[in-house]
Amino acid sequence: MGFFERLFDNTTKDIAFAEQNGKCSRCGRDLGYEQRGNSGDNCQDWEAHHKKAHSKGGTTSLRNCELLCSDCHKNTGSYGR
Ligand SMILES: [Zn+2]
Repeated sequence: MGFFERLFDNTTKDIAFAEQNGKCSRCGRDLGYEQRGNSGDNCQDWEAHHKKAHSKGGTTSLRNCELLCSDCHKNTGSYGR
């Protein structure tokens, strides 16, 4: 068990990005591929999110992965958990 188990690897994020056509899965905003994890002021910032929270047993797998813009990610309720 460790911190890294709750991080999606780059391959998973790449596949998810392609499957979502580079858009936020909630609001449909265009995500900037190079802006991953920036969480700054750039409107294209995005994060890989666990659909089912890791703290509630959600797995770190493609099936449980959705990519969200930083705004939607902060509104998930499991932000930072
Ligand atoms: Zn969004």
